[in-house]
Amino acid sequence: MLFAKSSTYLHKLKRLYQGLMQFVAPSSCAVCFELLQQTTRMGVCASCYGKLPEWDVNTVAEPPLPRYVDRFDAPFLYDEAVKLLITAMKFSDKPEYAHALAQVSQDRFKNCLHEDVLVLPVPMHRERLIKRMYNQSAELVKALRRYATFDDSLTGLRRVRPTKPQVGQSAKARQQNLKDAFEVLIDVQDKSILLVDDVWTTGSTADACAKCLKKAGAKEVAVFTIAYVEKPTVN
Ligand SMILES: [Zn+2]
Repeated sequence: MLFAKSSTYLHKLKRLYQGLMQFVAPSSCAVCFELLQQTTRMGVCASCYGKLPEWDVNTVAEPPLPRYVDRFDAPFLYDEAVKLLITAMKFSDKPEYAHALAQVSQDRFKNCLHEDVLVLPVPMHRERLIKRMYNQSAELVKALRRYATFDDSLTGLRRVRPTKPQVGQSAKARQQNLKDAFEVLIDVQDKSILLVDDVWTTGSTADACAKCLKKAGAKEVAVFTIAYVEKPTVN
């Protein structure tokens, strides 16, 4: 009886969620702007989905891992289509595109999960959060919950001070910019952490987070991003 009640409750919740998704899910493809069928309203049409450039380490080598990062994976290379999807999520006030990105990335993400892993989004500083209203990395983690079961903490890591945009800066300047920029707010002693971010360029942001987490006792830090910039334009 209890089971029947809870399954009806779950069914109602699911219907409510699907109803809400009709309003919040994107109605046009973020890549080609074609209107999407109602049933595929997840931000990217079937044709564009098929053309997304999957990253395969056999054809494009893994980037050199920075000092504190143990592993890294990303499902896609950062081409124009992926850039449009990520940009739509980050800068066009469309956090719902996180669902499209989560949907197309779910298989590779699941490969990064293992028992006892704790998933943390790369945090955004409060000032930027107030401007943008949401942290795209946290939106990704929330969207990924739809496809996998894992422990996470959206506020376990905090950006203590605002940092300058990293684009165009040298590796050394990036490191300096990120020095002591993060703080761990939860117990990570002997834990395996999976950091989630949108894009990997030089890995300096992930490394600064990983350094902070390892100092707080984390036993390993892996990184998952949606896209990998094969040839960053900085040194
Ligand atoms: Zn499309």
